[in-house]
Amino acid sequence: MTIRLRPHHLLCLLTYAGKGYSAPFVANYDRIAARMSQGDDILIVEGPDDICAPLLGEADPHCRRTSVRERDDKAAHDVGKLLHCSIEAGLQLSIDEAWLHQMRGAFADGRTRQACAGCEWSDLCSTISAEGYSQVRIRPPA
Ligand code: SF4
Repeated sequence: MTIRLRPHHLLCLLTYAGKGYSAPFVANYDRIAARMSQGDDILIVEGPDDICAPLLGEADPHCRRTSVRERDDKAAHDVGKLLHCSIEAGLQLSIDEAWLHQMRGAFADGRTRQACAGCEWSDLCSTISAEGYSQVRIRPPA
């Protein structure tokens, strides 16, 4: 099955290590991480996606804020430049070892970190990356 992702979550998936906003958020993310690690495709969407879903019942979910859309724009720019493609709604991607290697390397050396400015998780993501992504839950499909 296809997983719907907004652009900046292409970065967040690299450092997901089982931490998040709430228990339902983490449980949902774990299911998505397992599906990605089994080879499910990604479909790029605009706005809230499958990772955001557990937060959308809140009164003012941050997933709908302009600042988060701007984060998407920055991630789309950086990842598009890296992968030589246009990261926009409707694009389908598959995660494999080469893709993860390229994305992890660019994240680690800062080429795709514009979108992370001001994010509350930035220090954690930097640490996970600096430690070689050993704690992460999204792995290349076997
Ligand atoms: S710092 Fe924030 S936006 Fe960047 S990868 Fe981590 S969670 Fe995602």
